[in-house]
Amino acid sequence: MSSENAVVRRVTVLSGGMGGARFLQGLRHGLRTGLVPGADEDTEITVVANTADDIWVHGLKVCPDLDTVMYTLGDGIDPVRGWGRREETWSVKNELAAYGVEPTWFGLGDRDVATHLVRTQMLDAGYPLSAVTEALCRRWQPGVRLLPMTDDRVETHVAVADPDSPSGRRVVHFQEYWIRMRAEVPAETVVAVGIGDATPGPGVLEAIAEADVVILPPSNPVVSVGTILGVPGVRRALADTAAPVVGLSPIVGGTHVRGMAHQMLTSIGVEVSAGAVGAHYGARSNGGVLDAWLVDERDADQVEVATSVGLRSRAVPLMMTDEDATARMAATAVELALATRSDGAAG
Ligand code: GDP
Ligand code: CA
Repeated sequence: MSSENAVVRRVTVLSGGMGGARFLQGLRHGLRTGLVPGADEDTEITVVANTADDIWVHGLKVCPDLDTVMYTLGDGIDPVRGWGRREETWSVKNELAAYGVEPTWFGLGDRDVATHLVRTQMLDAGYPLSAVTEALCRRWQPGVRLLPMTDDRVETHVAVADPDSPSGRRVVHFQEYWIRMRAEVPAETVVAVGIGDATPGPGVLEAIAEADVVILPPSNPVVSVGTILGVPGVRRALADTAAPVVGLSPIVGGTHVRGMAHQMLTSIGVEVSAGAVGAHYGARSNGGVLDAWLVDERDADQVEVATSVGLRSRAVPLMMTDEDATARMAATAVELALATRSDGAAG
């Protein structure tokens, strides 16, 4: 199909780190191989990435989700770990530990440090994170436009029980909860500090408004997609866009595949099931953000749950085992999104 005939010229994806990045890899592959209906290799992908995982460590600004997307699509990711640079070495981390400087639990690889040095220097020179990200992407050529959800500082913090504290609880940075504590204790509360005052990054609202399809990939619904949706203006943009909005469940067979969506959903009182996450996002026809919701074939019974809250839903394989399987997921998501338009079922 030539691009003049393509009805899907622009796809916008609201992404976290690993789940989002893998999905984007599959989507890009699907566009290049002509698998995505209505689209072709000229279809542009814009990624609105979560920045609430960002952390300052050893004086460096680290943006895990932006970097995971950038490295994955730029073929610089460590494929086994799923984060950080391939063929990484750890001299800097070990030297810092030898000085006894905290945090020692944060995985700061030598190659990765160069990215954070460039970023921190540019931020210090007054460039906003969006401009820094654009500059870093000039090297990595991810084949997508990568936009931080905001240029403002937003940080997810997690409250956990702590019998030694007078209040009985302690608040840690999301990265400490995830990496040092391995998300092994329940998260009592999850707060995205600063989100209420954040402004969407340049191009974010436009990317949603001008998209032909908007996709919520299988990213963490609370600390990835949830924080993006929490940036003032983003929900409104999703409600107003002419594009259909489709999501893919990160919960398969009643649990997250990897990561800690389980803990995060529990902390906000949402049942850990594909249908409940779809209902949590909600139908646009009813004040939510979605028109359509894909669940895994194992969760075929969840289609009814999604349908009952006004979503068009289907059960298909949703395991991102390789690029081909993921491309098929992306193609089905776009197909389902377009179907909500052609039959006037949503809008
Ligand atoms: P993070 O920022 O690195 O945590 O990555 P994301 O928020 O983008 O995605 C993490 C979520 O992706 C996990 O919590 C899982 O629920 C989900 N996930 C990971 N792999 C798969 C997969 O193969 N299929 C599906 N459906 N979901 C997955
Ligand atoms: Ca993340």
